This record gives sequence, C-alpha cells and structure tokens, in this order.
Amino acid sequence: MNVFVQSPKAKASLAYGCRYRAHPSSPLKRLTFTTLLLLLPQSQNRCYSYRSLSPSLFLSRATITLHRSLSPHSPNPNFLTGNSCFFPMERFWSGSGINKNKAMVENLQTYGVVRSKKVAEVMEKVDRALFVPDGNAPYYDSPMPIGYNATISAPHMHATCLQLLEENLQPGMHALDVGSGTGYLTACFALMVGPQGCVVGVEHIPELVSSSIQNIQKSAAAPLLKEGSLAVHVGDGRQGWPEHAPYDAIHVGAAAPEIPQALIDQLKPGGRMVIPVGSIFQDLKVVEKSLDGSVSVRTETSVRYVPLTSRDAQLRNA
Ligand code: SAH
Repeated sequence: MNVFVQSPKAKASLAYGCRYRAHPSSPLKRLTFTTLLLLLPQSQNRCYSYRSLSPSLFLSRATITLHRSLSPHSPNPNFLTGNSCFFPMERFWSGSGINKNKAMVENLQTYGVVRSKKVAEVMEKVDRALFVPDGNAPYYDSPMPIGYNATISAPHMHATCLQLLEENLQPGMHALDVGSGTGYLTACFALMVGPQGCVVGVEHIPELVSSSIQNIQKSAAAPLLKEGSLAVHVGDGRQGWPEHAPYDAIHVGAAAPEIPQALIDQLKPGGRMVIPVGSIFQDLKVVEKSLDGSVSVRTETSVRYVPLTSRDAQLRNA
C-alpha cells in the first residue's frame, strides 16, 4: 500500500495536519505503508490494535509518530486540536515577532492550508504570539496548553477553519465562536467581518474569557473590541448566544458528542457551521443551512479536539 500524502483522497481523510500537501522537496512526499508501520512504537498500541484502526486513524497515528521521530525536541504536549508533521523547521521559531508570524503564514500557504489572500492577510495581522501563553513556541504547528484542560488549536486548524468559513465571514456578517479559549480565532473573525459586522466569543471558563480579552486588546482586533463589534462572554456555548443570532458563521472549538440543536437553530439560512463531532474518534463537520432552512452535514477531516462539555467535567478532566 502506497500512501501519497498529496493525493486528494488522503487530503480529505487524514488528521493532525495531514491535510498539507507535501513540499516538492520533502522526503515525506511519498510514504509507504511499511515506512509508516516501522515508525509505530509498541507503546502506542495500548488502546487499539492497528489492524482494527480505520485507515484515517491509522495514518493519523503513524504521522504523529513520524512527526516525533523527525523532531524529537519539538514541543508536543498532547494531540489535541490537530498536529502537523510537516513543519520540521518550526522548532527553531520560538520568541515572538510579526515577521515570524508572517513566516508561519507563508509556510501554511506553501502547504496549501492557507489558500486565500484574505485569510493570509488576517492571519498575518493577528500575531499568534499574543495568544499563546509564555514559554511555548507560538509559531510551532501544534496545539499548546492554555490551562484549565484546554489548548489553543494548532495554526493549521485555525487556518483550515478560517478557509472553510471565509465566504460566511464577509464584511458586515455575524459570527459566533463557541469555546473561544485564547480569543485568537475570535479576533481573526472580527477582522474578517469588520466594524459593520458582529462577532461573539462564548467561553465557559471565566479566567480564559478575561485573558482572551487582554490578548485581543494587544492585537490588531483591539479597535473592534473597543467599538463593540467584537465581544467575548462567559457562557455555556452549547446554548449558543441568541442575542446576536442568526449567525452567518459558527465555529465550535471543542468536540461535541452531537451537534447542539441550539447552534443549528441560531445558524442563518445560507449560513455555515464548522464543528468537531465525536469523542475518541472525531470528525470536523461542515453544517450548512440552505435558504429554505434545510440542513446538510458533511465530514471535512478527522481531528482531535478537547470536549465541548460542562465546566465541571472539563475541570475534573472527565
Ligand atoms: N479555539 C480556542 C480554544 C480551543 S480549546 C483557541 O484556539 O484558543 C476549546 C475551548 O472550548 C476551551 O477553552 C474550553 O474551555 C471551551 N469549552 C469547552 N466546553 C465548552 C462549553 N460548553 N461552553 C463554552 N466553552 C467551552
């Protein structure tokens, strides 16, 4: 079995950053089943037999292992919210700086994750280092812990969600960011919809809401927060935020066992929601409400996110 990382089929089904097209000079351009199998350590075989794994999960695990073998010193605290094995240079990118942020975005463009000019511009404007807690490499393509059993998603997951929602983040539109965490995507959404639009972040950990507001105040989205077109609230995101509904775009940053009805109800006809669904096995779902109100759901890719749950369960790490 040959695995072409660049094949459209693989692109559609792989997780943890495997959506990237391999760089033309990359040794990862063509991987064989045997290569992947050799890279799988015994210790990863605790919960699942590889024979029983779906092809996409098998490849996810294999590529995580490959990532580790390529960059053993890189930070990789856990496997939540997506990981990439295709950014071997990024382990050198610590510290902050808008040029490093720009280089991160250029890398995402090289790998085909960022495809549009608008998404590139917004990600260049919002310096990721302002949102990643000190002591972590902000431009590294991995989720990073932010406390309270939560993580900031990996840059490629943020980019993927921005790309998926771009058409529903036009100037003047309404967007909801459920599980807004650090506020990074909330800030990006606000820059996309501009001062005539409306962006609401809902996060159930009050401390994260406070720190996300401080993060946004240092970022390019600060004027929008001040003017009121961007707001972050403490709340249970499973209930959405009815006050500014219906929304053209809804992003959910945590994995729901099933798609909450309140969020479907708050989606505007013509609107789009991006939401990870599942527990151990999770898929990033794209939910669309057509103009006649009918709802369709498709799977974009396999992912790994923290759960969309109650505050107590999250703090207990249940
Ligand atoms: N997208 C954010 C955070 C991702 S982690 C970022 O990249 O910074 C998922 C976030 O969802 C966490 O901050 C967690 O506290 C929050 N969360 C989980 N369940 C929630 C719920 N029911 N309501 C609101 N927020 C929730």
